[in-house]
Amino acid sequence: MGNLIDGKAIAEKIKEEVKKELEILKGEGIIPKLVAVYVGENPASSVYINQQRKNCEKAGIVYELKNLPADTTEAQVISEIEKLNNDKSITGIILQLPLPKGIDTRKVQASIIPEKDVEGINPANMGWIIYGRPYLAPCTALAVKEIIDSTGVDLYGKDVVMVGHSDIVGKPVALLLVDKFATVSICHIGTSDAGMLEDYVSRADILVVAVGKANLIPGRWIKEGAIVVDVGINRVGDKIVGDVEFETAKERSSLITPVPGGVGPVTTAILLRNVIISAKWAKNK
Ligand code: NDP
Repeated sequence: MGNLIDGKAIAEKIKEEVKKELEILKGEGIIPKLVAVYVGENPASSVYINQQRKNCEKAGIVYELKNLPADTTEAQVISEIEKLNNDKSITGIILQLPLPKGIDTRKVQASIIPEKDVEGINPANMGWIIYGRPYLAPCTALAVKEIIDSTGVDLYGKDVVMVGHSDIVGKPVALLLVDKFATVSICHIGTSDAGMLEDYVSRADILVVAVGKANLIPGRWIKEGAIVVDVGINRVGDKIVGDVEFETAKERSSLITPVPGGVGPVTTAILLRNVIISAKWAKNK
């Protein structure tokens, strides 16, 4: 693999652990069951749901789809989620996005009880990250942390630059890494507009990029020997690329995630792990 970080290999290791944990749970009579709440229909989500079902079933997790009509109101979605919250046979709930216009996504996410929140997006679970105790954190943020850990790098005192400050990736990644005593800078559109993005990127020992703009980060900006984690997924013609100009960045970095085959498979495996964590949490209630 040269200096490529093999996301698929990291994912396989997580899936092996999930398998073992699942056997233990089953021995205790607990069958993890994930319910996906999906309002309306759109082709991209349908593809994603089919993949989710396949991954869960392959891992031995029961998967069920709750498809609600496109004209379901916010109150009705929340009421459906409350039923799932109260159903003891269901251990995890996942909310398919986007929701139809007029529905407050954050409000609906907050209605999933923390112990069934396998995506780690309930405000209580987000709050636990601030306390340094990420029980159920957003899957992609945990995937980035897992990938960095897999390199064996000691984060203490390292200069980490996080480009992108979304609620589910950039902000939680920054918090997870600052707890390991890295010096973390968070960059966003303001950094870019101020003409400061190159300055920050070029000082990073560890660079994480989660924006969604192909080639936003030219390879020549990367510090020699840096570790680069590219979260971005962008379709360019018939190819999927990340946010970092890969070929040049590969030459300059010591380790780099490819797109596809980097963060994506690890995120998928972390979702399975979160399903197991939620089943254990529900058991202890
Ligand atoms: P969001 O759109 O929520 O966040 C993008 C972030 O990038 C925002 O903080 C935005 O700032 C910032 N930004 C926009 N333009 C610039 C710029 N020119 N310079 C610096 N920062 C900028 O996206 P997500 O975090 O949800 O996802 C990011 C990418 O990661 C997407 O490509 C997505 O598809 C991918 N992704 C991949 C996953 C995987 O498993 N591999 C999982 C989840 C996401 P502002 O808000 O101020 O505009």
